[in-house]
Amino acid sequence: MSDIKDLLQGNSVLQLMSINNHEQVVFCNDQSTGLKAIISIHNTVLGPALGGTRMWAYNNDAEALNDVLRLSRGMSYKAAITGLNLGGGKAVIIGDARKIKSEALMRRFGKFVNSLAGKYITAEDVGINTKDMEYVKMETDYVSGLPTSMGGSGDPSPVTAYGVYMGMKAAAKTKWGNDSLEGKKVVVQGIGHVGENLVAYLVKEGAKVYVNDIFEDRVQNISRQHKVDFVSAENLFGLDMDIYAPCALGATINDENLSKLKCAIIAGAANNQLADEKIHGEMVKEKGILYAPDFLINAGGLINVYSELEGYNRERAMAQTENIYNTTLNIFKISADQNIPTYVAANKLAEKRIEEIGRVKLSF
Ligand code: NAD
Repeated sequence: MSDIKDLLQGNSVLQLMSINNHEQVVFCNDQSTGLKAIISIHNTVLGPALGGTRMWAYNNDAEALNDVLRLSRGMSYKAAITGLNLGGGKAVIIGDARKIKSEALMRRFGKFVNSLAGKYITAEDVGINTKDMEYVKMETDYVSGLPTSMGGSGDPSPVTAYGVYMGMKAAAKTKWGNDSLEGKKVVVQGIGHVGENLVAYLVKEGAKVYVNDIFEDRVQNISRQHKVDFVSAENLFGLDMDIYAPCALGATINDENLSKLKCAIIAGAANNQLADEKIHGEMVKEKGILYAPDFLINAGGLINVYSELEGYNRERAMAQTENIYNTTLNIFKISADQNIPTYVAANKLAEKRIEEIGRVKLSF
């Protein structure tokens, strides 16, 4: 959380934005609905900034700002490495989704999105569902991931889960020479929209799945559907496991958890899993853990909503998502050949595309 520390040390928002060259940050406030939101646009070289809206009860505004800056940068890299013509953006709504979310709040948020005139296109993220997006859509056309009943592509989470599963299999292939997950002990932390779909793939393949979630009802729900074991938050990182799949929020790969973590692979859906990219990306490498870069393997949802913008084709979206397997293998190879952390290999590839296409756009 070094960025929060920076902020509290007196850096201005513009100074924070300059660290990773964010283009624009919009603060949204509306007393009548209780809406407090931040929209961050990281980069629009490849196209309009697309990224979901997250609703979360952040402890303070600095935490929310830090999250949205990190998430929007991740979206630029995700689109770039996946070959999509999209920029990176993200929004956060501050507050407990189970308590303060309402039609009016979502529609007011939609008005703010609309005021950006297409520079930012929103979608679902943690704490937001397709119904909420219907409300946003009442105020703006710059929405993706709409319900199928409205002609949209529906919840992107199953596609995201498929991509994570592909990335995980690529990691298994690299680590063990065989991409089968049968008998592998996999811990899925966070069994929400993506987590539950991932669990289904893993159980089907014969993996030994452990789950954890802060909400008891989620655990009960998944236990009713699949043969899984529960692991408590206290025991999670001490558990002997083959694969750790973070599917809740980011920054779980940090000093404390890494000191206990015993696994061969990290591959999950959560964005920004490395608390500090430089420090923890290097640490996982030193520990001999193969880290599948988050923005690479969780790109299925983005592929799906991008397809919606172009005229939705589920089969094409799934085929493109399946290709995450090959891209992930390639990143692992570059990382091994150049002896660099996997996140560095992935970042380099994403930055290269943004730079090259940026030059093409400037040419006649
Ligand atoms: P979700 O809100 O449906 O699920 C998140 C789950 O994590 C919830 O069940 C929540 O209770 C649980 N959780 C939160 N904090 C936790 C903690 N500390 N320990 C254990 N469980 C915890 O969200 P989702 O759509 O499944 O997304 C999961 C992650 O994947 C997020 O980081 C999201 O940004 C990322 N992601 C999602 C998609 C998508 O298509 N939905 C695409 C790319 C990335």
